[in-house]
Amino acid sequence: MNPGYELPVDNVNYNFAFLDEFAKREIRRNILKAISIPGYQTPYASREMPMGRGFGTGGLQLTLSLLGAGDTLKVIDQGADDSVNAVNLRQFVELTCPGANTTERAAEANIIQSRHRIPEDKLSADQILVLQVPTPDPLTIVEPSEARRKIMHGEGDYAPLLTRLYEDIVQFDEIAISNRYPTRLNGHYVIDSSPIPRFDVPKMHQSAALILLGAGRERKIYAVPPFTDAVPLAFEDVAFRTEAFLDSKGNRRHCDRCNSVTSYLDEIIHPDGSRHWQCSDTGYCNDRCSQLKNAECEEARP
Ligand SMILES: [Zn+2]
Repeated sequence: MNPGYELPVDNVNYNFAFLDEFAKREIRRNILKAISIPGYQTPYASREMPMGRGFGTGGLQLTLSLLGAGDTLKVIDQGADDSVNAVNLRQFVELTCPGANTTERAAEANIIQSRHRIPEDKLSADQILVLQVPTPDPLTIVEPSEARRKIMHGEGDYAPLLTRLYEDIVQFDEIAISNRYPTRLNGHYVIDSSPIPRFDVPKMHQSAALILLGAGRERKIYAVPPFTDAVPLAFEDVAFRTEAFLDSKGNRRHCDRCNSVTSYLDEIIHPDGSRHWQCSDTGYCNDRCSQLKNAECEEARP
């Protein structure tokens, strides 16, 4: 949020959750349409928000249209609750949604807005995950015309995308897409899975939680409804694989704070040049630390 921006002091003239009721209703209708057609990019009238496009305005509009008094929201950016983008979005919600709560624990939240990560904790059926999306259409890299892309989506014609993956295999011996991995929903539409790492893509498959994806600049909403097949594009002989985090001896690296060997790890280079690994999901890491009562946890924090 722009630090120079000040909200009106008199909240009487100020609508709950910033957006007017008509805007929120329109977004909710489009959410229903997106849920009805898994992976279909539903156009909507993306509103101007008091922050730049690209800072999560699409995700924020989804969150604001869903959030009510008594709901609990968690906002994460690259897995962290305390990064600038996440803090700004959380403060904006706290300012504009009186009665709504915020938390840093995924299990306590019923709406989780995220950029670049899906939380490590398994989400439940009473939770909604909102992902911020910069580029909603996975076909953009192979077809510049949106009209042609719509026809390709309608016909399920993803051959140029598969060719692109094949070119990766020819050049690098594997599919080299690190994020925004194209994923087929319910056997038809292929979606851009947003800039989550490959590690998180399998979490979309048969997810109990509803996953909503919002692109503010591109004015599109799409959804992975609960218990829907979400299969990353791959070939029979070259399977989809996630980041393995193996060291030079082939052992799985662990988090330096909580010793987790199942989480997605961030590499941190200390001033002395030494390399360390730590959970990218700070809420998950903190929870594990408090459960383990590991005194070293706090010391290891950079
Ligand atoms: Zn950890």
